[in-house]
Amino acid sequence: MTKYTHIVIHYSEIGIKKGNRSKFEGQLIKNINFVLEPYVLKTNRRYGIVVCLLKEDLLEKQIEEISKKLSDIIGIAFFAFVVACKKEISDICDCVFGLINEKEFETFKVNARRSNKQFPYTSQKINELVGAEVIKKYKKKVNLDKPDLEIFIEVTETEIFVYTKKTPGLCGLPTGSSGTVICSLSGGIDSPVSAYYLMTRGCKVVFVHILSGTLDVSSLKSKIYKLCEVLSKYQNFAKLYVVPFSDIQKQIITFVPADYRMIIYRRYMLKIINQIAKKENAKAIVTGDSVGQVASQTLDNLLCIYDSSKLPILTPLIGLNKEEIISVAKKIGTYDLSILPYPDCCSFMVDKHPQTKAKLDFVIDLEKNIVDSDKLIFDAISKTELIKISKNQENL
Ligand code: ATP
Ligand code: MG
Repeated sequence: MTKYTHIVIHYSEIGIKKGNRSKFEGQLIKNINFVLEPYVLKTNRRYGIVVCLLKEDLLEKQIEEISKKLSDIIGIAFFAFVVACKKEISDICDCVFGLINEKEFETFKVNARRSNKQFPYTSQKINELVGAEVIKKYKKKVNLDKPDLEIFIEVTETEIFVYTKKTPGLCGLPTGSSGTVICSLSGGIDSPVSAYYLMTRGCKVVFVHILSGTLDVSSLKSKIYKLCEVLSKYQNFAKLYVVPFSDIQKQIITFVPADYRMIIYRRYMLKIINQIAKKENAKAIVTGDSVGQVASQTLDNLLCIYDSSKLPILTPLIGLNKEEIISVAKKIGTYDLSILPYPDCCSFMVDKHPQTKAKLDFVIDLEKNIVDSDKLIFDAISKTELIKISKNQENL
């Protein structure tokens, strides 16, 4: 097995941040250190990259573990296990020879990147010098368009790194660099995907699930907790608020005609979530809505629902079709949990043909029939349970 000395991590969008760049880099390093702590001695920035110094004598199994963990960190464009070498072309060539297997390629290309301008050779010159040695030793051909093997050389201020394999990352902005949002998390396919999208924009996502009175705790655990657990791997932790909804539901069922119940349920959910958002200092709410996907998500209805929220409602899936959403759900690992049966409160005691053209004035009038609305919300929040899912309490 090749003895790698470091991991080189290239990040995606942070590169285009000017003034705030070091804040984003700092967050990415924090997120990397959180998961790689058992494997690395230190993590530092170099110009435009992050470099982790690996502990010595890591097993192949541990290299695979690291790879898996880095693949789940948002903000990474790609990473590579690398070998560090001295600053002479002959050392670089020795490193390259140690990395490559002549049986595995016929054509190759050298791709050097020099961020240390003190180094006496330009990137192009490094390509030529190292390329010439590879040709001399192995009698292989250069192919710049479609090589079997690409040899990467990065000349940083302090080291030179050589590698042949890049592993793509999830891209986006490092989680935790853009503030907090609350995800209105149902048991379905959509809202977990929405949460993931906001994580890729650097947001820390806190989850709120509104619990139907008809549900038992075991189905909550086997589905909603687990969804949060899966999503927690992208931000290293998850906080889940579970809000009892049956008292509010009863009132809505008593005073609201069946075709308007879904809209009023969701208005109350948003009112509750707005309160929880204050505790979490969250600046927005994210939902899994997509225009027209179900009867409750017509433009008229969304207008009536979102009117109940002071905070902005973010809807990353608003223009996506179900197939697109499902493919992301599969990629992020939430799909199999989302399709488990779960009688959600939104589907409880609502009309088979719910209203699709709700009128806001009418909705507000209907809501006036609900007695002691503020107290109902207050009681639901005071009976709310907070569950923390994390390996590291410090991150909560
Ligand atoms: P999903 O797959 O996300 O459940 P859906 O197509 O089933 O979406 P609805 O049930 O109408 O649609 O819900 C729309 C959105 O309302 C959800 O994406 C979610 O953000 C929010 N929501 C619905 N039910 C709940 C709930 N019980 N707790 C918290 N949020 C909910
Ligand atoms: Mg749903």
